[in-house]
Amino acid sequence: MSDSPEPVELASTQETRCCVVGGGPAGMILGLLLARGGVPVTLLESHPDFDRDFRGDTVHPSTLELLDQLGLAERLHQFPHGKVRALRLRTKGGTITLADTSRLRTRFPYILTLPQVKLLNLLAEEASKYPHFRLVMGANVQRLVEDGGAVRGVRYRDTENRWHEVRSTLTVAADGRFSKLRHLAGIESVKTAPPMDVVWFRLPNGANDAGEGAEFYAGGGHLVVLLDRGDQWQVGYVILKGSFAAVKAAGVEALGRSLAELVPWLADRVDQLRDWKQTAVLNVESSRVTCWHKSGLLLIGDAAHVMSPVGGVGINVAVQDAVEAANLLTDPLRRGVVTDRDLAAVQKGREFAVKMVQRIQGVIQKRIAGAALAPGQAFAVPWWLRLLTKIPILRDIPAKMVAFGPRRVRLRVEARPVA
Ligand SMILES: Cc1cc2nc3c(=O)[nH]c(=O)nc-3n(C[C@H](O)[C@H](O)[C@H](O)COP(=O)(O)OP(=O)(O)OC[C@H]3O[C@@H](n4cnc5c(N)ncnc54)[C@H](O)[C@@H]3O)c2cc1C
Repeated sequence: MSDSPEPVELASTQETRCCVVGGGPAGMILGLLLARGGVPVTLLESHPDFDRDFRGDTVHPSTLELLDQLGLAERLHQFPHGKVRALRLRTKGGTITLADTSRLRTRFPYILTLPQVKLLNLLAEEASKYPHFRLVMGANVQRLVEDGGAVRGVRYRDTENRWHEVRSTLTVAADGRFSKLRHLAGIESVKTAPPMDVVWFRLPNGANDAGEGAEFYAGGGHLVVLLDRGDQWQVGYVILKGSFAAVKAAGVEALGRSLAELVPWLADRVDQLRDWKQTAVLNVESSRVTCWHKSGLLLIGDAAHVMSPVGGVGINVAVQDAVEAANLLTDPLRRGVVTDRDLAAVQKGREFAVKMVQRIQGVIQKRIAGAALAPGQAFAVPWWLRLLTKIPILRDIPAKMVAFGPRRVRLRVEARPVA
C-alpha cells in the first residue's frame, strides 16, 4: 500500500479484470470498449456526476468516426451542438485559414462542439448495457493496492467516507492532469512551460455572426480564440503565463474593453461578462511521463500527458489512447494475464503521436501565441505559415493533424460476450 498507510476498515471488497479510475473521455471510452469486448470492468469516478464546465467541449473527426463504429454518432448529433469547419487567424493584415476540415475525407468533416457532459452521459448509458460494466460515482480513489511491487487494485472513499477496495488484473489511471494514481505510483512527468495561460468564458452568439469556425484574433499584444458552440461563443482570452493576477487587478471591465478592441463585433455584448466567476483560468501546461506503466498499472489520457490547448486536441488524444489500449489489452484481459510487455506496447503505439503533437504545439505557442502576446511588438503572420496554408499539397496537413493526429487510430476489437 502506498501513500499515508494508516489502516482502514473496508465497507466492501470487489474483484474485477480491469479497474479504470476516472470517468473523463479516456476512462469512459476505455471502460465502454473493454466491456463491449467482454471484459469485466469497474470504473471509479470521484465526482457525483459528469457535469463540468470549461473543459474540452470539442469532438474531433477521429472521435466521431469511433462513435460511428460504435453506433453512437447519430445519437450524439441529436444534442444541440455547434460545428467548426475552419480555424481562421485574423490580424490587421488580413485573414488566413489555418485549417479547413471540410476537405477531409471522412463522414464527419468538422469538429462537433457540445458540452462534454452530453458525451460522457451517452458513453455511460451505452456501457451500462453490459452487465459486467460497473460504474461507481462519488468514488474517490486514494490508495493503490500493491503486492510484490505490482499494482493489484485500488482503495477508494465513497461519499460517506467509507473505504472500499477493488482488486483487478489491471488498473488504468485515467484520472486526468493531476492524476492521483500517477503520484501514488511515483511516476514523474516532464513538464514544459508554454508562454501562456487562458481565461475562458462564454458570450452569446448573435444571429448575424459568422458561424462554424474557430476564430483566432491577434494584435496589439493580445490573442483571443472564439469557438462556435451553436448558441454561444466560447471565448479564450490568452494571456502571458502567470499574468492572471495583473489581469484580474485591472478589472473584468478592462478585459471586456480589450476584447472589444480586438474583436469589434463583440462590443455589443462584452458587458455581459460582469464577474470573474463567469470565467475559468486554464494554467496551460504541456507534459508527459516517460514511462506510462508499471506492473499492473497503465496511465492514459491527461494522466500520461497534458496537451496544450493549441488545436483543442486533448480529448481526442485521450480517446485515441483508450482505443489503442482496448485494441492491445482486450485479449490479455480476457485471458486474465496482462504482462509488462502488453502495457509497453500501448505506450509504444501512442507515444510518437503524442510527442509529435506536443512538438508542433510548442512551435505554434512560441512562434504565434508568444509573438502575438509580446508587449509592444506588432504581430505579423510568419512566412512559413502563409506558405503552408497556400500550397495545395501542404494546406490540408494542419486540418489532418487537428482531426486525426499524426496517425489514425482505428478500433480493431469486435463486440464479444463476457470472457
Ligand atoms: C479549461 C479547459 C479547457 C479545455 N478545452 C479543451 C478543448 O476545447 N478541446 C479539447 O480537446 N480539450 C480541451 N481541454 C483538455 C481536455 O479537457 C482534456 O485533455 C481531456 O478531458 C482529458 O481526458 P481524460 O479522460 O484523460 O481526463 P479528464 O477529462 O481530466 O478526466 C479525469 C477524470 O478523473 C476523475 N478523477 C480525478 N481524480 C480521481 C480520483 N482520485 N478518483 C476517481 N476519479 C478521479 C475526474 O473527476 C475526471 O472526471 C481543456 C481542458 C481544460 C482544463
